[in-house]
Order: sequence, then structure tokens, then C-alpha cells
Amino acid sequence: MRPEVSVVVPVYNEADNVDDLHRQLTAVLSGLGRPYEILIVDDGSSDGTLDRLLALEVRDPALRVLRLRRNFGQTAAFSAGFDHARGDVVVTSDGDLQNDPADIPLLLAKLDEGFDIVCGWRKHRKDPWSKKIPSFFANRLISWATGVQLNDYGCSLKAIRSDVVRNLRLYGEMHRFIPAVASWMGVSVAEVPVNHRPRTRGTSKYGIGRTVRVLLDLFTVKFLGVYGTRPSHLFGLMGLASGTTGFAILSYLAYIRLFADAAIGGRPLLLLGALLFLTGVILVSVGLVAELLVRTYHESQGKPTYFVREMRPTEAAPREAALTRH
Ligand code: UDP
Ligand code: MG
Repeated sequence: MRPEVSVVVPVYNEADNVDDLHRQLTAVLSGLGRPYEILIVDDGSSDGTLDRLLALEVRDPALRVLRLRRNFGQTAAFSAGFDHARGDVVVTSDGDLQNDPADIPLLLAKLDEGFDIVCGWRKHRKDPWSKKIPSFFANRLISWATGVQLNDYGCSLKAIRSDVVRNLRLYGEMHRFIPAVASWMGVSVAEVPVNHRPRTRGTSKYGIGRTVRVLLDLFTVKFLGVYGTRPSHLFGLMGLASGTTGFAILSYLAYIRLFADAAIGGRPLLLLGALLFLTGVILVSVGLVAELLVRTYHESQGKPTYFVREMRPTEAAPREAALTRH
């Protein structure tokens, strides 16, 4: 039977956690009354995680183990899981038991209210201050920059409709931006407080370096979200501002050189004008090249620049019907 709920969990060197993880997930999911699958993505573990997973897999038909060839990182592991999930709803979670599987019914109930994504909020987060303080600022910054107000962008425990997941392409550390990206697609997002537990076994895979990578990804996400289909508007605007200022400065210098016979060779203004003008030309050109790239991206892959919610009536549209008749 095709599962309705797919739980996608990336694990990297979590040998001491996978047995409990599987037990706790199964206890909750078997009480749902809906067919489910547990899709554990082994992100290139080297500590015996895989052996434990395979031992579980032979006993439990609801467990699937997706084995990546090497360690690709949590975001890529989620992406791999999404590509192989079969359910109508995808639930994501960390695999170190910091997220509590008992919260899954809560997320699903909220999803049934009509939301497309329900995010967990680790209201009482059990992590060291060295993690909580950067997260505090990151959450506010991301909320402000993306316009999608969430208390906790870093929580892996989420429930997402699979048609939303299928339209997402994730890079870098971007799984935390799923709510923001999806909300730009016109998808509704809710947040519910969830339980959070300290890590009791295994070690954390991240340090402070993650904060920097998340910030860089925020730039990318914001840029792609706002200018992804019209990059020349951004580059063109900056280029025009810089280019016209440079042009004005150079015109002024040319004027005083020719008509007031002033020496301009040693003036810093000459350098500034030349730089601004050149930068302007470069920025406008980059914008045009980016426009070509955007067209190649969308047209070569048949990716529309919009997302359809539904078509009424639901039968094939007249144009398609006419095409299929031949
Ligand atoms: N993880 C992964 N690949 C990686 C790093 C982490 O699949 O390269 C998994 C890890 O096994 C865990 C989850 O991502 O299930 C969250 O990692 P971790 O607990 O180390 O992050 P933290 O809670 O410390 O932020
Ligand atoms: Mg953790």
C-alpha cells in the first residue's frame, strides 16, 4: 500500500541513536491509523550506523534506508529523501532524538487544518548557549529579510505537503529556508511549539561555522526569491546608478579640461569617475548575462515562472485536449 505519510530522517554517524529513533518513530506512527514509511537517509556514515539500519530494515517493511555514497551534508540528504519519498505528506526530523517523534501527530493535525507547511518551534530548546545565541539573531534576521515570520528557522521537525516538496531545489544549508521559499511560492505556513531534548548520544556535527554559511545562503535565497526571474532589474539598476554618476563626473572633467583649460590628470575625481563608469558598464552586462542564464534555466527544463494552485474545471484544458486528440 502506498504510504500517506513519509518521515524523512537524515543520519550521519548516529549509530547509538538509530535503534531508539526507529522504536520511537514506529510507536508514534503505528498509532496514526494512516499508512506510513520511515525513510532514513544514511549520509555516508562511517561508524556502523548503516549496519544497524540494515538490521532494522529486514525486520520492518515500513522502513526504507537510502544510502548516499559519501557525506553530502544534511540539506542534500533531505533533498535525496524528498526525491524518494512516496507519501502525500513528508515529515522531516533530525535523527539524533533531539526532535521528539511524539510531536508528529500534532504537526499532521495542523496540516489537516489546511496549511501546506507546519514547522516545529523548539520553544524550550535544549542546546548549549553557543548554539542558542547565534540562532536567536539568525531567526530574527531571516524573518526580517524573508518577510516570513517564524520563531525557529532551524528546527528540522516539519510536515510538508509532498507537492510543495517536489518543487523545491535545495543547495548549501538551505533546508532551513524551506518555509521562506515555499511561502514565496504562495504556500501557507504555520508554526507549532514542539518538544526538544538534549543530545544524549553521539556528537553534534556542527559548530559556529554554520552561522556564517546560513547567512551566505540567506543572501542567495533572498536574491533568487526577489530577482530570480528578473536579475537585470537588480544589476541594471545598480549599473545605471553607478554608470550615470561616472558619466556625469567624466563629462564635468572633460568640460573643464576643454573649456576652462584646467589640468585634470592628477585629480582623484578622474579615477572615481572612470571607476564608476566602468563598474556601471560591467554591472549592466552582468545583468544581461544573468537574464540569458535565467531563460536557459527555465526554458531548458520546462520550469514555469509561476506556480498553479488549481485549474477549474479539472478536466484537461481545451488546448491540451485538442493536442491529445491527434
Ligand atoms: N546530519 C547529516 N549529515 C551531516 C550532518 C548532520 O545527515 O553532514 C544529521 C545528523 O545525523 C542529525 C541531524 O543531521 O540527524 C542534525 O545534526 P546535529 O544534531 O549534529 O545538529 P545540531 O542539532 O547540533 O544542530
Ligand atoms: Mg542535534
